[in-house]
Amino acid sequence: MGEMTRTAGEDIKSLTLEELKERLDRMGEKPFRAGQLYDWMHRKLAGSYGEMTNLPASLRALLQEKEPLTVLEKKREQTSGIDGTKKFLFALPDQNLVESVWMRYQHGNSVCISSQVGCRMGCRFCASTLGGLERNLAPSEMLDQIYRIQALTKERVSNVVVMGSGEPLDNYDNLLKFLHMLTDENGLHISQRSVTVSTCGIVPRIYDLAGEKLQITLALSLHAATDEKRRKLMPIAQRYSIRELMEACAYYFEQTGRRITFEYSLVKDVNDSSEDAQKLSALAGPLSSHVNLIPVNPVKERGFVQSERLAIAAFKNKLEKNGINVTIRRELGRDIDGACGQLRRRHLQEEKKG
Ligand code: SAH
Repeated sequence: MGEMTRTAGEDIKSLTLEELKERLDRMGEKPFRAGQLYDWMHRKLAGSYGEMTNLPASLRALLQEKEPLTVLEKKREQTSGIDGTKKFLFALPDQNLVESVWMRYQHGNSVCISSQVGCRMGCRFCASTLGGLERNLAPSEMLDQIYRIQALTKERVSNVVVMGSGEPLDNYDNLLKFLHMLTDENGLHISQRSVTVSTCGIVPRIYDLAGEKLQITLALSLHAATDEKRRKLMPIAQRYSIRELMEACAYYFEQTGRRITFEYSLVKDVNDSSEDAQKLSALAGPLSSHVNLIPVNPVKERGFVQSERLAIAAFKNKLEKNGINVTIRRELGRDIDGACGQLRRRHLQEEKKG
């Protein structure tokens, strides 16, 4: 390994092509080498410098010594016997762990990535936040979750959702760089419209993101239609009211032309009544938002119970009657610790026990 890894985001795989040209220039290399190297890292998804056969051996040796290549190491892989969904646990260069999920849909393969190690948002139903925030992920560490999965499954990834552990807008600069590199024509070139970023609702960052004028989908984790209820589920709701959130969403829609998705996890006797559905309709209607209902995934430390099938169906019905575009999230990977942060948590607990 040699020297210390640079701070998150400075490693060679986190550099845009322009930045990579500058770094190689400082090493006395010609600009076309940057193009070759970028291609190996971001298109051919090389797992080591050794594979980069059109680079001179001397350059590869120098890079190996000076610029450790961020490549995530697969620690565990679980495949759902029900639907083929795969959950991966990866080790980062500093041995922190993150999880990612691979799902197969009719329209292509989708990968759900983590944006932080742990999370500091504290949502009551979520496993990712139980141990707090460890650190932000570098752009390379977000990208490489997708790269390793595409290399391991040998199938093209066409959709990416930033809906794993962490709050993406709490790691804003790295997220933006990641989005640019993921959708850049010199990399995997995934269409911006095939990328979704999910946030618990950090209002000022929603305005910032709107200003970037990207064509990605913004998903807002709403989970309650009144401030009072939302505050019981999500600490972030103490900071920003639903009214402020809706204004930010309207601005996002205005600036980008992209409709917002509302995520709403249904918890028995907490937010699944007919009155809740009515209030949610009043929020979603004016924004033409799509509502994605998620039967809450029970996390043993949390004690929330999933709404009954009938209650879920009635809730959906009520929204539809109000003209809201609504889907129930298919529960993929139920048998493999599908919910955010569950696999990492279990792995750490098992390691502790030895
Ligand atoms: N921090 C971001 C993205 C990560 S969570 C956000 O808050 O949106 C992705 C989605 O899963 C969010 O809507 C989150 O609220 C939801 N979620 C987390 N734990 C869950 C659980 N146990 N059951 C159902 N949904 C859950």
